[in-house]
Amino acid sequence: MILKLRRPDDFHVHLRDGEMLRQVAQYTASQFARALVMPNVPPIDTGPQAERLRNEILQHVSPASFTPLMTIRLTEKSMPETIHEAKRCGVVAAKVYPQGVTTGSHGGLTIDQLQQMGAVFAAMQDVGMILCWHGEFPGPGWLQAEQRMLPEIRKVVDDFPRLRQVLEHISTREGVEWVRRCPDMVAGTITVHHLFLTLDDLGGRGKFGRGGMLQPHYFYAPIAKDDSDRQALAEAAIEPSGKFFLGTDSAPHPIDRKFNVDAGCCAAGVFSAPVAMAALASKFEELNALDRLEGFTSAHGARFYGLPLNEGSIVLEKQAWVVPETVAGMVPFLAGEELSWRVAGIDNV
Ligand SMILES: [Zn+2]
Repeated sequence: MILKLRRPDDFHVHLRDGEMLRQVAQYTASQFARALVMPNVPPIDTGPQAERLRNEILQHVSPASFTPLMTIRLTEKSMPETIHEAKRCGVVAAKVYPQGVTTGSHGGLTIDQLQQMGAVFAAMQDVGMILCWHGEFPGPGWLQAEQRMLPEIRKVVDDFPRLRQVLEHISTREGVEWVRRCPDMVAGTITVHHLFLTLDDLGGRGKFGRGGMLQPHYFYAPIAKDDSDRQALAEAAIEPSGKFFLGTDSAPHPIDRKFNVDAGCCAAGVFSAPVAMAALASKFEELNALDRLEGFTSAHGARFYGLPLNEGSIVLEKQAWVVPETVAGMVPFLAGEELSWRVAGIDNV
């Protein structure tokens, strides 16, 4: 069986820079026509920095078949002029990282600082730049961090009704329902891994667990929640409202950062790019919703961002394969697991 979809977009990816970028860019570019490149590692806080990273990315992919969409981080130094300059440099979105919630968020914003960002949000609203949220409240209370952040975001939704905003990598049922209740200017991205895993899998106890051993490669932020949350995300991914779309949050780390024996710790992030579309086809088939996959990967996000739908297609084939234990020297998402679909190729028109 063959499934031909309009070429997809990944509205949340970490491509890194330098040698890591050289190794990982092809896995995104071989499936997605466009990807929204997150600004945390390396830190990208201005339009010119985003332009430099875009040029570096374009050294490793074919510009004819892949377009990086650039973002900046909002920091306490961001000003309305930062937004205007970024807009001139082609930046499409700016991201809020609450302080200390994930990789590269040490320079992020405290809740107090967030409340001082009104002029910046107003500038974004005026120029049509999208506001992306890492929606976790800083500080203790990890499992409730997403729920606790939603009222803070809602204030910005109410104060800036024309500002388009995205709750990134939704991880809870409450997050899904909150996006549904918000006006149409608010959407949410869903990752591949949150559709597959629960906290039990991280702890080695779930379907993808391995005998009770902690699984560092299933450690990411926001952390996987329970099965009710996972089911709510699956229902959102297949709904036709247009409010939910794919952002893989593929975030590769060198193996010695996932298994740092000396420091005895593990970086948050899952390298899902190599399996993204194959895993999604397998998941959507399991949900009896293969006909909804194209909306989730190739239409809802582009429409929300005001971008034309991609030309060309990606061809998926129903053929079982086992995800390799390593890809580019790293452990990919679902390593060692069998998937029922694979990517056969892309067809550029
Ligand atoms: Zn991310």
